Amino acid sequence: MQSPLTDAQRASLADAIDRLMSVDVPGRGFVADAYAEARRLAGGPLVRQAGDALLARLEARRGAVVLIATGATAQRPGLPDHIGEMDGPPGALALARTLGLAFGALPVLVTDPRQGTMLSGAAASLGLYTFSHADLRLQASRMPHVSAIAVVEMPDDDAAAREQSERLVASLDPVALIAIEKAGRNEKGVFHNSYKDDTSAGKARLEPLFDLCAARGVLTIGIGDGGNELGMGSIRDFILGRFEHMRSCNCPCGGSIVAEQKADVLLVATVSNWGAYGLTAYLAAVAGKPYAAHSPERERQLLRGCATAGYVHVDGFRTSAADGLPEDIHAAFVALLGCMTFWPPLQFGRMGILADMLAK
Ligand SMILES: [Zn+2]
Repeated sequence: MQSPLTDAQRASLADAIDRLMSVDVPGRGFVADAYAEARRLAGGPLVRQAGDALLARLEARRGAVVLIATGATAQRPGLPDHIGEMDGPPGALALARTLGLAFGALPVLVTDPRQGTMLSGAAASLGLYTFSHADLRLQASRMPHVSAIAVVEMPDDDAAAREQSERLVASLDPVALIAIEKAGRNEKGVFHNSYKDDTSAGKARLEPLFDLCAARGVLTIGIGDGGNELGMGSIRDFILGRFEHMRSCNCPCGGSIVAEQKADVLLVATVSNWGAYGLTAYLAAVAGKPYAAHSPERERQLLRGCATAGYVHVDGFRTSAADGLPEDIHAAFVALLGCMTFWPPLQFGRMGILADMLAK
């Protein structure tokens, strides 16, 4: 693949995306320090580390399977375990669309038990079908791009999850596993949300899949915003040292709320969806396919589609919002990213054509 960007331009684009996705807009108090530590480990912008590693694998094999794990249980009293939460699935679906459209990759989404129908319903808001993996592969062999995803539910039972993970890896031969806002267990084997409650019930066990992928040299990427997600194990000691309130949970396990699972690349963002959108923008720009990036209008459709499909916002309503921020804020974030996919957009702005180039 011939990138329109020089190496220096890739570096400056990645740095700009990283800065944007790690601004603590909601004032949660986690991202600034956790991002800095992840970047220190990576030695540079996180979207570049994740994006370049992913690109190398996608370029080596057209029609490659990328596993994308997402889905959180809402855990609101009275709501059943299978009701999902709004951060994570939008990022996973936007990334899946870009991977299929720009690279002909086969996105296989892995989610919690009984959340598959909800995720498939949300996918329709981006025009994506849910196919079997065999049909995805057939489409990739005959068409220039893939417009569908496959959805797999991972059991909440350790032994069953291990068996399912072995089958998935053996049959799909994935090149990457990307977890977006996907909870991981702590050092006691218990899952927690950011309110420090035990949220293990109904939660997909993804650690066996991570371990299998890591053992086979499959790229693993963890995207998170709170410390309890898969991948945060990479900066676990830092988090425990810096954030005292995360050292102890509210459940009888007596552990911390920080996930143990490490990833090859940890992408820390203000909102996990933003990390996924940032990665999507970087991939589209470097591939010279800015049209394959996300757009503000699609973001509105996607958030509304997720709410309609049944995902619940942190306020308890099925509203077009994520992590406490309303739709307009997410659309504005995606608009800034979209502008940056024409890196450096100033060249087009000076010509007077940038406004016409930006996807609405
Ligand atoms: Zn606990």
